[in-house]
Amino acid sequence: MLRVTGLTAFYGRSQALFGMELAVGAGEVATLLGRNGMGKTTTIRSILGLLPPAAGRVEFGGRELAGLPPHRIARAGIALVPEGRQVFPTLTVHENLIATAANRLDRRPPWTAERVYALFPKLLERRNAVARTLSGGEQQMLAVGRALLTNPALLILDEATEGLAPLVRAEIWRCLAGLKAEGQAILVVDKNLSALMDLADRHHVIEKGRLVWTGRSAELAAQPELQHRYLGV
Ligand code: ATP
Repeated sequence: MLRVTGLTAFYGRSQALFGMELAVGAGEVATLLGRNGMGKTTTIRSILGLLPPAAGRVEFGGRELAGLPPHRIARAGIALVPEGRQVFPTLTVHENLIATAANRLDRRPPWTAERVYALFPKLLERRNAVARTLSGGEQQMLAVGRALLTNPALLILDEATEGLAPLVRAEIWRCLAGLKAEGQAILVVDKNLSALMDLADRHHVIEKGRLVWTGRSAELAAQPELQHRYLGV
């Protein structure tokens, strides 16, 4: 579904990605793992066209996305849940959801606010609450819900559970497992490896802007030295 090859990107004259590679298959959950500052967010920004790649390919559903502006890439079916809670703070939960426009209208069944409430019953309880009064976890669920309402073919979460309490994280991972069971493709950028071992089909480890390892959970679990060297686990 998504195949990134030879991705090279710069911040001014400073090179941040050196031929990065990554792949997410249809219905798969993939991860992008690595220590701070290794280029995870930069990889995502380049895929989304927010930091246009200097070289490389971003093939998505048979189309080439590298070089397209961010709104065209979003419309192609990639949705991002960014780090920090990106919700409209003064709108209610329900208003936040219905203010989100669908990018892809062909999705069957399409996402609706009701379907988001079924996924996150907590949001239904807080339906008429103003978003800034929600807990961090509830705001993050709302951010995921808003991303889903665009009907993405691929959902990307960039450190979406950063700073949340362990129980809340667990709830978000449970929901991702539910989405996966429905066939939703997901790319998770996170440092919390243990929770992702069960959920993810495929892992990518990045170091200094390059892919240094890719493989399945069982292979990663069998290589503690790899986890220690690149992930600090
Ligand atoms: P973190 O988990 O800390 O967000 P990361 O793996 O996502 O780390 P990036 O944010 O992609 O890492 O950063 C990769 C490299 O690019 C780092 O060396 C960082 O200092 C540099 N960098 C990131 N953003 C900018 C920017 N706006 N301008 C210049 N350099 C940047």
